[in-house]
Amino acid sequence: MTIPYGRQEVTEADIDAVVGVLRSDYLTQGPWVPAFERAVAQYVGAGHAVAVNSATSALHLACLSLGLGPGDRLWTSPITFVASANCGLYCGAEVDFVDIDPRTGNLCPERLAAKLEQAERDGTVPKVVVAVHLCGEPCDMRAVRALGERYGFRIIEDASHAIGARYRGEPVGSGRYSDVTVFSFHPVKIITTAEGGMAVTNDAATAERMMLLRSHGITRDPAQMTHVPDGPWYYQQIALGFNYRMTELQAALGASQLNRLDAYVERRHEIARRYDEAFTGLPLATPWRDPDSRSALHLYALRLRVEMLRPTHREVFERLREAGIGVNVHYIPVHLQPWYERLGFRYGQFPEAERYYAEAISLPIYPAMTRSDEDRVIDAVTAAVQA
Ligand SMILES: *Cc1c(COP(=O)(O)O)cnc(C)c1O
Repeated sequence: MTIPYGRQEVTEADIDAVVGVLRSDYLTQGPWVPAFERAVAQYVGAGHAVAVNSATSALHLACLSLGLGPGDRLWTSPITFVASANCGLYCGAEVDFVDIDPRTGNLCPERLAAKLEQAERDGTVPKVVVAVHLCGEPCDMRAVRALGERYGFRIIEDASHAIGARYRGEPVGSGRYSDVTVFSFHPVKIITTAEGGMAVTNDAATAERMMLLRSHGITRDPAQMTHVPDGPWYYQQIALGFNYRMTELQAALGASQLNRLDAYVERRHEIARRYDEAFTGLPLATPWRDPDSRSALHLYALRLRVEMLRPTHREVFERLREAGIGVNVHYIPVHLQPWYERLGFRYGQFPEAERYYAEAISLPIYPAMTRSDEDRVIDAVTAAVQA
């Protein structure tokens, strides 16, 4: 049996919660979605939360509600899932990347500062910067925020890996350093709703815009209508929205999973501490964690010291897969995807990201792992990096 790099845990309480919805009157647009939104908003300390059918949809709505459109620019990190960049393209904006800090794999604030200086001279300052908390380790948001104030761009935190993480003593999602924060509830992430995502913000107007757009741009609020309602049946479409709604089944599952979020993050730290210790002295770097933050540890990504190894990155990866360890590589740099190469990006533009890609391997880490799963991973990694 292969040990996957990540997987969900579903308890009897989760199953009961979902079955309860199936027996109820509402499968969608009932009480569970607002209850789950309130629970997440309260957990992260945000004023408003908008549940949707994926983090990809949440990123799209966040960009639209911040006014991103044709002629605008969105910048993000090349070491992320494609959705962090695609949201800019959905809005007709131009996308560009800022190379990473090799220590964390997160967008590098010094490189961001240098790129902004040049962009100011060229008149190409972005409207939105998407900061990704890679592997659950918070990006340097204080630095990103300071640059946002200086250059006037808006900030979205792609916290798809980072619900349950803390940055400088506050939960990721508190909104102190950004306009909108986005979470993913895909089964490999920290907590799951099968598919699902959420956007949190402290700005009421931004939240209202996202709620309108997740449901076709339709309102039933007379105050938002262009004229007096024709009758009690009346609704108006006042924007071109989408159907990005989360179902009641998903929200009930998410609310049930949320009860275990802190325990999940703690369990991930336990596994990571074991790995850190077991891998000391091997020709690889274990993930760096900021002592002032608390990572959600969605991923545990090793960086091989390829210059000290006889086997190549690919050989180590293949040896681990052969040993039944479901390792992965996060991520193929987005600028090297054919869709982005077609837009003019090419190899060599973001060397730190390209080097990261050539060295990173994600090991299994998830709450339901057993001690013997951990032993198997440790033994396999130790063997795979030997000559
Ligand atoms: C998973 C992920 C997404 C997309 O999440 P979905 O809920 O699957 O749409 C976006 N950004 C990052 C960094 C992710 O890891």
